[in-house]
Amino acid sequence: MKSGKQRSAEIKARRIQRAARSNIDCFTPVRVLPVGAVAADPQQLLHNNTYGQLPLFYVDRAFSCRDCNRAEVWTAKQQKWWYEIAKGNIYSQAVRCRPCRRIEQARVEAARIVAQAGLARKQEAMANRK
Ligand SMILES: [Zn+2]
Repeated sequence: MKSGKQRSAEIKARRIQRAARSNIDCFTPVRVLPVGAVAADPQQLLHNNTYGQLPLFYVDRAFSCRDCNRAEVWTAKQQKWWYEIAKGNIYSQAVRCRPCRRIEQARVEAARIVAQAGLARKQEAMANRK
């Protein structure tokens, strides 16, 4: 018998394969949504302020992680969250897997702290000079 972890790994692998095979156009109206597609809410996409077309639905998209090159899938549900709730730019796409994204977020956060500390030191030095 397979463990839950093995089973979820198999499901994920199948999902990646299916997403990599599909080449569905999300901009052309369809009468019936493709299997696994999530309908887009145009009202929630208005922040994109684009003359380009907005997607009518989302489907799983396969990509390989920019950092570790692992095959990953950006699910339709995650895309809906990103574009409609997090108000992500319509031209942005997932580029990193979850662990690499965490590492990148930590790196950016650490860099931000260093930059702010440097700025504070500089401003203090400028203030003392007067
Ligand atoms: Zn990665």
